[in-house]
Amino acid sequence: MAPFRSVSILLVSLASGVGFASDSAMPVSQCGLHHVQLVQVEVPILYGKPLISEVYSQAKESQFPNARERCVFGGCDPQATKKAKVMVCPKCSESRKRWLSEHQVKDARI
Ligand SMILES: [Zn+2]
Repeated sequence: MAPFRSVSILLVSLASGVGFASDSAMPVSQCGLHHVQLVQVEVPILYGKPLISEVYSQAKESQFPNARERCVFGGCDPQATKKAKVMVCPKCSESRKRWLSEHQVKDARI
């Protein structure tokens, strides 16, 4: 069995009940890998401790670091905020879909 690790995301609640999620304190506007403009999308926040394979984590880091179009992880303590606005790279999203297809991963939430 491959080792697993969790992913933590910083969530900042807004008055609208939708949080903004980012891997860093400051949101970025351009993908550092593909050098294209990120677009803002609203995604569900999943609470709990996700199990993510090391193979997927390594692929995400090197091939699609800004593919967050499916969901973000809000930590182990469920909050009232159910959705978050995230910045997504269209090229990363394409790379992620291709990687999932090539590796025959059925659970698209990862
Ligand atoms: Zn990208």
